[in-house]
Amino acid sequence: MLARPLQDLRISLTDRCNFRCVYCMPEEFFNKDYEFLSRGALLNFEEITRIARIFVAHGVRKIRLTGGEPLLRKHIENLIEMLAQLKTPDGRGLDLALTTNGSLLAKKARSLKDAGLQRVTVSLDSLDDDTFRRMNGVDFPVAQVLRGLEVAHATGFGPIKLNMVVKRGMNDQEIVPMARHFKGTPFILRFIEYMDVGASNDWKMDEVVPSSEVVRRIAAHMPLEAIEPNHAGETAERWRYTDGGGEIGVISSVTQSFCRDCTRARLSTEGVLYTCLFAASGHDLRALLRGGNTDQEIAAATSHLWRTRTDRYSELRSASTPGTASAARKIEMSYIGG
Ligand code: SAM
Ligand code: SF4
Ligand code: SF4
Repeated sequence: MLARPLQDLRISLTDRCNFRCVYCMPEEFFNKDYEFLSRGALLNFEEITRIARIFVAHGVRKIRLTGGEPLLRKHIENLIEMLAQLKTPDGRGLDLALTTNGSLLAKKARSLKDAGLQRVTVSLDSLDDDTFRRMNGVDFPVAQVLRGLEVAHATGFGPIKLNMVVKRGMNDQEIVPMARHFKGTPFILRFIEYMDVGASNDWKMDEVVPSSEVVRRIAAHMPLEAIEPNHAGETAERWRYTDGGGEIGVISSVTQSFCRDCTRARLSTEGVLYTCLFAASGHDLRALLRGGNTDQEIAAATSHLWRTRTDRYSELRSASTPGTASAARKIEMSYIGG
């Protein structure tokens, strides 16, 4: 029995993105022939806030806005203002965070902060401009994301977490330079194992750099020691520099599954609730919302769904044929959010 409380809701605000990261929305697949969702299919801000309110009443403490690229969603600040008003049953505000590729952060950091956003996580796969441009698939310069980081930090977001997806042969040579660059800064760098999400990225196990190798490669230059998690169920394993230069995190979704502690649900752009990142199907909350159901009815449906969930894809993947992704049809990361 997996008794995992529902604490965390990730909401995808758009399935579109201005990047075409090779591991997430490769250009060969997400090109002009790809059909993105129509505007009417998207949950509107009132609908998102209503679902969030129901989840918060039932134990959710943390909401993360994601995508696609969430900063492409028009008037996102209005949604943040609405979500920032929500209170937990014991009267506390929510932990409201956003994950972004950082391309629009320099422009938007101030308005996001003013609207009530508390934290941002920025994806950054390389400091080397050529590698960065190749990985994001649209020739986007890294300098603009670095500028976004600076502005976000100056605006008072902090500590800002940085996510680096490591793909062998693509950006693994950047592991040590990235660690060195952000050591001793207010930014917390986290290395993420390249996952077999979706069906478009042609995932292969030999392109995954295990977190143990990441730690070993960094520690060979800058000694590290393991530290305790901030809270139970934290997905990142924490390591600190022994010379006091701060910490890094590693997220081992492939080599060390954490299904047992998985406390998050994911709401897609069109209002389908998924209880696992690797689920092939979800539960259509938009139909419930637009079908005139009451908050109590929606709460009953979702709590039944959560109580009876048996998801443990990563555990099963590790236990099955090594090196292969499951053959089951899976949803794309850009649709469901990270
Ligand atoms: N566009 C935003 C961004 O890139 O931060 C938010 C959405 S993105 C889908 C959320 C996170 O998922 C990013 O940190 C991204 O690096 C990560 N991600 C996407 N595809 C992945 C994969 N195949 N393996 C591991 N992480 C992945
Ligand atoms: Fe876009 Fe984020 Fe996916 Fe990159 S990881 S393609 S920025 S959604
Ligand atoms: Fe949670 Fe599914 Fe990931 Fe396991 S595979 S940690 S259940 S999202």
